[in-house]
Order: sequence, then C-alpha cells, then structure tokens
Amino acid sequence: MKAMYDVLVIGAGPAGSIAAKTAAEKGLTVLLIEKRQEIGDPVRCAEGVSKEYLKKHVEIDKKWICADLKGARIYAPDGTKIEMAEEIAGGEVGYVLERKIFDRALAEKASKAGAEVRVKTRAIGLIIEEDFVKGARLMQLGKEYDVHARIVIGADGIESKVGRWAGIDTSLKPIDIETCVQYLVAGVDINQEYCEFYIGNEIAPGGYIWIFPKGEGKANVGIGIIGSKMGKFKPRPVDYLNSFLEKKFPHAKVVEMVFGGVPVSGSIEKTSTNGLILIGDAARQSDPITGGGILNAMDVGKIAGEAAFAAISGGDVSNEKLEEVYEKRWRSTIGHAIDLSLIVKNCFINLNDVDLNSLAFSLKDVKFERMSLLDLLHALFKANKKLLWDLRVLFKDAAKEVAKSKM
Ligand SMILES: Cc1cc2nc3c(=O)[nH]c(=O)nc-3n(C[C@H](O)[C@H](O)[C@H](O)COP(=O)(O)OP(=O)(O)OC[C@H]3O[C@@H](n4cnc5c(N)ncnc54)[C@H](O)[C@@H]3O)c2cc1C
Repeated sequence: MKAMYDVLVIGAGPAGSIAAKTAAEKGLTVLLIEKRQEIGDPVRCAEGVSKEYLKKHVEIDKKWICADLKGARIYAPDGTKIEMAEEIAGGEVGYVLERKIFDRALAEKASKAGAEVRVKTRAIGLIIEEDFVKGARLMQLGKEYDVHARIVIGADGIESKVGRWAGIDTSLKPIDIETCVQYLVAGVDINQEYCEFYIGNEIAPGGYIWIFPKGEGKANVGIGIIGSKMGKFKPRPVDYLNSFLEKKFPHAKVVEMVFGGVPVSGSIEKTSTNGLILIGDAARQSDPITGGGILNAMDVGKIAGEAAFAAISGGDVSNEKLEEVYEKRWRSTIGHAIDLSLIVKNCFINLNDVDLNSLAFSLKDVKFERMSLLDLLHALFKANKKLLWDLRVLFKDAAKEVAKSKM
C-alpha cells in the first residue's frame, strides 16, 4: 500500500468497485479497500436486477447468473395476481445473481483496470485538514496506516460512517429504513421463471415478501418491513417470514439467513464535500419503493469515477466543483427517479388491505407486456380516483418528463 493515491474508495460493493474501475480506466491511481475478508460475502441481498440495465454496465457472464426470469408476479392480500413481463417490472426483475461471485468479479474488473484492491482493510476515520478531506486512517491486520488521496469516495453501504465523519447528514428515521430478513431455502418446488411479491398489512406491513428463484430448487425468500410500522409489542420481520414459510413451503430447508437494512429515504440533501464523494447505499441512493440498489449503485459509481477524474485533472476538488461534476449529474439522472419513487412509496405505505385489493383487482386483466409505465399509471388512476388525488404530484412530474422528451 502506498501512502498517496489520486482516489481512495472505501467499500467494495457494486458502487465502490465501479467507481474504482472507472477512475482507474481514466489513468488515476486508485486504492479500493474492503473491510471484509471476502468481497461479496456474506450476501445481504435478494440479488435481483434488470437484464437490459445491467448490460449497460458489464458484459453478462453466466458464472454469476442463477436464474433468468421472464417476469414478476405480484399477489394482493386477497390473492389477486398481477403478472408483469420482465422488461417493465422494474430494476430488480430480470436476472437473479450470485452476488458472492458478481461482487468479486466487479472488484476484479477494477483491479484489471489498474486499481489496487485490499481486503480485510477497514477505514476507521478520515484525515481532514483545512476543511478538506485528504485521506483516511486504515486498519489492516491490527495495524493502523494513514493513506492520503486527492479524493475519497465513500461507498461503505447502509451502515456508512464515512459520510458522518465528513459532516454529511446521512441519518435515517424509522420510516426511512426497510428492515429485512432473508432465507436462502432449498428443497422448494418453485417456478424458476418468475419472482413473486406478496403485499399486505397482515403479511408485511409497509413492505413486502419476495421469492427470488436461484435454480436447483433453491430461492431467496425474504421480507422487508418499514421501520415506522415496527414496535416492541408487534411481530418482528422474522416472525412474519416464518409464518409465511410455514404456510407456503412447510418442507423448505433454510440453508442461509441474512439480516440487513435498506435505505428508502429518497435523496439526501448533500452527497459531497471538499475532497469527498458519497455513493450507493452510503448516499441513500436506492429505490424508495423496492429497496433495490444494485444498479443505482453501479450508475453512481460510474458518475463518481468520472467526476473524480474531472475534478483531479482540473486541479479543483472543492465541494463546489464536486457538486458540478457529481451531484448535479446523479440528481438529474437517477435522482429524479428516486424522488418520484419516494412520492409513490409515501402513498402506498398508507394504503390498507382493502385499497391494495382494489388496486390489484383493477389491474388484473391488464396486458403488462405491452404497457408503458405511463399507460400503467393511467389504468391505475382510472380505476382508483383517490389514488389519483394522492399521487397528483407524481402525475405532474410525469407530464413534465413527457413534455421534455418531446422537445
Ligand atoms: C435483504 C436485502 C435484499 C436486497 N435485495 C435487492 C435486490 O434484489 N436488488 C437490488 O438491486 N438491491 C437489493 N438490495 C439492496 C442492495 O443490496 C444494495 O442497494 C447494494 O448492495 C448497494 O451497493 P453499495 O455498493 O452501495 O453497498 P454495499 O453492497 O453494501 O457495499 C458496501 C461495502 O462497504 C464495505 N464497508 C463498510 N464499511 C467499511 C469500512 N469502514 N472500510 C472498508 N469497507 C467498508 C462493506 O463491507 C461492503 O462490502 C437488498 C438489500 C437487502 C438488505
């Protein structure tokens, strides 16, 4: 490990690895550090991603694909089923990945591009001089080192400390977090071509249960519940999941269990400061409705790598410059989608099961494979006038988007 790099990336998830790869490809010296001994392990993810979107970032390698899905099935509390083709089912439906292999492959790509990768290396604090982040204090195998960098990229996931150390407010209220539990189950007779989502206040208050097939009779079966709907005397997410499993797959064998949180807060106010960029879950850039964050993390990783190059080669790593080359870019792309999702999330978490059933009923005969998102919203609103009123802001924004795209 050298004492000075152009870029130090903290955290080797999808966001960090893509940022490191992009910056290294531009010719910058890059150090990518990961606190765990194995990149990608343990997995805290249902591992679903949209095919087309993923292809924008990497060439698909069969080694890290467990299942190739045709679409998604959503079940309302009364069992009404809505079926969506993969292309319109959102950022989490398409392939089910093996993230233990996928995350490592992304870090290898960063390494091939010239980045130095160090595992079992944890950032324990930032070096801040004259109001600029100048590097970080690292701990590797019990020893502490200072590593200086022109830009530090914080990609340290939902439990991020980097943002806080730099004075950025990344705090999350209970309503901003989905608390998740997931089992990898084996021995289940499950359709391997569709993932399934179960919604309803009895099943998963303010969230949903998912089943993502993983091939060979295996599946990720998990639940996410919004923090504001949990309480000392209420069932825990694991209790809801166990009772679902007992009914749905009484003979399933649980071979892995993970607990984790997903930020569903929507965009935070600030994701950069002098000498520092925050990306991925650390910057709360996952989708507020689904909690999906892999592809957003990869998108912002790329923007951050390019931004680091622009700032360093221009000799200006001030927050003003980083706002121009990073903040503005991500806010005008995925930031916009995140803001719209937040509006929808805030509306959906207040729906009772009767509303959810009526929504699902109004959509059950729609041919989703031929539908655009706007057509879908139109069909929803036509049948549900109250929802139309609650989501009027979204409609206004969608209309603006359509107008912009026609200019
Ligand atoms: C149960 C569950 C299911 C999910 N399912 C999906 C899904 O199906 N599809 C989807 O798109 N998204 C899903 N997500 C969300 C997705 O996993 C995240 O959005 C995504 O991993 C974010 O990528 P990231 O690179 O920002 O952070 P992470 O993948 O969390 O990577 C952060 C890395 O930083 C490391 N790190 C942390 N602190 C330090 C430190 N101090 N020093 C060095 N390293 C550090 C961590 O060990 C970690 O490897 C799910 C999340 C959960 C919890």
